[in-house]
Amino acid sequence: MRSLVVIIVTLLAPVVNFAQSSNEKPYQYTVDLTRVVNDRIYVELIPPAQKEKQMTFYFPKIVPGTYSIADYGRYVTELKALDKKGKQLPVEKVDENSWRIKNANKLTKISYWVDDSWDTRVKGEEIFWPAGTNIEEGRNYVINTGGFFGYFEGQKEPDFQLNIIRPKDLYGSTGLIPEKTAAPLNKVNLEKGTDTTNKVVDVYNATDYDHLVDSPIMYAKPDTAIIKVANAEVLIGSYSPTGKVSAREIAASIREVLMAQKEFLGGKLPVDKYAFIFYFTDKPVLSYGALEHSYSSFYYMPEMPIGQMNQQLRDFAAHEFFHIVTPLTVHSREIEDFDFNDPEMSRHLWMYEGVTEYFASLVQVQYDLVSLDEFIQTIREKMITADQFINDVPFTEISKFTLDKYHDQYYNVYQKGALIALCLDVKLRKLSNGERSLRDLMLDLSEKYGKNKAFDDDKLFAEITAMTFPEIGEFFERYVKGTGALPVDTTASGNRVEPLPFEEVFEDLGIIYAEEHTFEDYTLGIDNPDLGITQIDSVPKLQIATTAHLNELGKALGFQEGDVLLAINEEPIPDLGSPDVGAFFQEQLMGLREGTDISFTVLRTNSNGEAKETILTAPVKKVQISQRHLLAPNPQATPDQLALRAAWLGKEQ
Ligand SMILES: [Zn+2]
Repeated sequence: MRSLVVIIVTLLAPVVNFAQSSNEKPYQYTVDLTRVVNDRIYVELIPPAQKEKQMTFYFPKIVPGTYSIADYGRYVTELKALDKKGKQLPVEKVDENSWRIKNANKLTKISYWVDDSWDTRVKGEEIFWPAGTNIEEGRNYVINTGGFFGYFEGQKEPDFQLNIIRPKDLYGSTGLIPEKTAAPLNKVNLEKGTDTTNKVVDVYNATDYDHLVDSPIMYAKPDTAIIKVANAEVLIGSYSPTGKVSAREIAASIREVLMAQKEFLGGKLPVDKYAFIFYFTDKPVLSYGALEHSYSSFYYMPEMPIGQMNQQLRDFAAHEFFHIVTPLTVHSREIEDFDFNDPEMSRHLWMYEGVTEYFASLVQVQYDLVSLDEFIQTIREKMITADQFINDVPFTEISKFTLDKYHDQYYNVYQKGALIALCLDVKLRKLSNGERSLRDLMLDLSEKYGKNKAFDDDKLFAEITAMTFPEIGEFFERYVKGTGALPVDTTASGNRVEPLPFEEVFEDLGIIYAEEHTFEDYTLGIDNPDLGITQIDSVPKLQIATTAHLNELGKALGFQEGDVLLAINEEPIPDLGSPDVGAFFQEQLMGLREGTDISFTVLRTNSNGEAKETILTAPVKKVQISQRHLLAPNPQATPDQLALRAAWLGKEQ
């Protein structure tokens, strides 16, 4: 029957050839970074052919890893849908993130303008900066792809092609592997009369919309370094506007941590290429952070010399990189099939963020990059910070409702989440005589599931219990999820959990734990919970946020809610965000003497709304101070305790 085969091949040949020669992806996006008008960029899409007469085109309401609403559609204007002849099709904007296109079966092109989220006129909640977008003409472009590119309802799956026209002297840092770099400009549709001098086009492919959104790209003057970690090539791409820090210095700083992480993960990395993309800002910042992706992570941080940020940089990098384990490998269905416009949250932030955060610290003590004292101090800080949050609501519910009811509890995922992981790790070690750890469990789960196989959100606890010990099931019931049924909708289950068993866990490790310890000492009359931040003439200043917890000296000084702190003993407080702030307060504290006065100059707004400088004075005196969650290795620890501690710290003989 050979001839028949030949006939079919002949018939099919022209079609196959056509598809191959054009090599076009269903979604073809073109962006021209050299054409910035009014701080906005023009984007064109040749969309997949549509069969339906009416289709909705979406920008994401939310992207994975941020756990908060972004509404990227806010930054998109003048969206036009065109047919083959260039005639506009009717388009109706349905809400912040969706456009309904009529006669979509005739659609051949979509075009629009995108504003960036970092410096914008658009109103509403700020987007988490590492998930935001930046357009600084000729200098820097942060393309968090969800902010630049949309998708059609029900059509996340087809391939995407990005053609990015860029000035010749900029470089794109990304975890994507470029299909072609600097391809000839005539391969893309350019407006007639476009000046093509000094321009090239980078071509990238993504296998679906999830992959696209998972792949940020930053364009800037090249400042890169490469670290080889086992099988993986790790790219560092950096943008430091005043040149205070370089990619080469960052690489030197995080190299050791990455090497330790590789060992921790069993000697090899689960990726071949990974990119750390850093944007450093020289503007004052009140919040900064980083966001994980499968093949990269993006960092938005204040610009400083490497010496001043070493530890934080390493902590951040270790955390984001460990997300490769969870949720990027071990995750539930809610994350696997992420709904960008109607998201369902998983119950397991204790694992995605908590275990990740815990591992990021644990790996550093296990491989001697931090001392035991520094590690214990990190744990203590988490315990103190966690005290500001709800403690008796199951963490599964905090997680499930993190977009709405419990949004103000989100930050606790890095505190209590990590502490849950710590307790679980020690429990596992104890029950297995030091043999099995949380790392082993996570590696087993990675093996069992993996990037393309999700677990059932409500079966994870039973699964882990079956893989480990019945006592672990009991641990989850008492401290993480409660004993009742899991909540199914936004109605709380009413379940309650017990405070984490710190006493027992630290006892097992031969570490002395004291929940509270009180003594007398000097203070400046203010403490962290009293303080907030306000802007005076666009400069961030400390403010008395609440007088509810003022100590005796604070009360004697007579602080009022809303007082803006300007000076102590007539010495001006340095600008927040400047590196001198900590030293200034330390110096003021050291200078306190019984029998002298302390004064604060504050900006106080009176009942007529006028702000006046006011000086508050009180005699210096020692006040009752309480310190919480004191931890110290017990010098009299038993051999059993020492053995468990050694196993925990990866120091078993
Ligand atoms: Zn994280």
